[in-house]
Amino acid sequence: MSITADQHVHSHHSGDSEARMEDIAEQAIARGLTELCFTEHVDLDYPDVGDPEITEETFLLDADAYHREYCEVRDRYADRIRLSFGLELGMQPHLGQENTRFVQASPYDLVIASTHVSRRRDPYYPAFYEGRSEEDAIREVLAETLENIRVFEDFDVVGHLDYVLRYLPSRRQRVDMTPFADVIDEILKLIIRREQGLDLNTAPLWKKGSPEMNPSRQILSRYHELGGRIITFGSDAHHAGDVAGAFDTAERIALECGFTEYCVYRNRRPEMKKLISVT
Ligand SMILES: [Zn+2]
Ligand SMILES: [Zn+2]
Repeated sequence: MSITADQHVHSHHSGDSEARMEDIAEQAIARGLTELCFTEHVDLDYPDVGDPEITEETFLLDADAYHREYCEVRDRYADRIRLSFGLELGMQPHLGQENTRFVQASPYDLVIASTHVSRRRDPYYPAFYEGRSEEDAIREVLAETLENIRVFEDFDVVGHLDYVLRYLPSRRQRVDMTPFADVIDEILKLIIRREQGLDLNTAPLWKKGSPEMNPSRQILSRYHELGGRIITFGSDAHHAGDVAGAFDTAERIALECGFTEYCVYRNRRPEMKKLISVT
């Protein structure tokens, strides 16, 4: 494996994780990583999704407390692994300015921008699909993602672009994205123009045994075809044991889709690293 950086990891600073930052750092070292970026959740104005476990507070982030502990852990591990300070920010069309202010208030290395809700509903729950086809649901989420990145620019990579595919009621493992090529192309062209990239999110590979990560090969190949070269790898681990999950498979998929390099972000700037040498 030549990927040496996991750049999508949650610790207890995220509302849905209890992992200790030290345990994550130790696991990353044990897996042979030389870099890891914590990317804690913040979803401002998270809607009421009818789940008693989740409130509108769940995905808020105390960025100061996070930064303080990050600095301590980073310094303690400085001679063993390079730890970075990142964010996974939930976008919604009305939050453009608020999200920009949130990002600018702290010295992040990497900002992942994700669409976790569409029209105030979360694709994680079955109710999202009721009364319509899966295709209609997918189209809605992609259209919302495009709207989100039009009104909010201060990010580095789009998180798990086809995330909605994880939760389709049919549980199908492959979905032909051709019917959505128009909106996908608009998203990809916009991020390429702005020199932003894609978070290659390996969670479907290690968590569900899916043959695809988010996004799928089809989208990844299209991004490459359009000239996109900025990709980051992230396990989306919420437990230390899942750090760098399925990175071997992820690397193989990226190579298949034409990529020879990936990016590691520091101070919001991508640095290119080689994938396994290819002839
Ligand atoms: Zn996410
Ligand atoms: Zn995440």
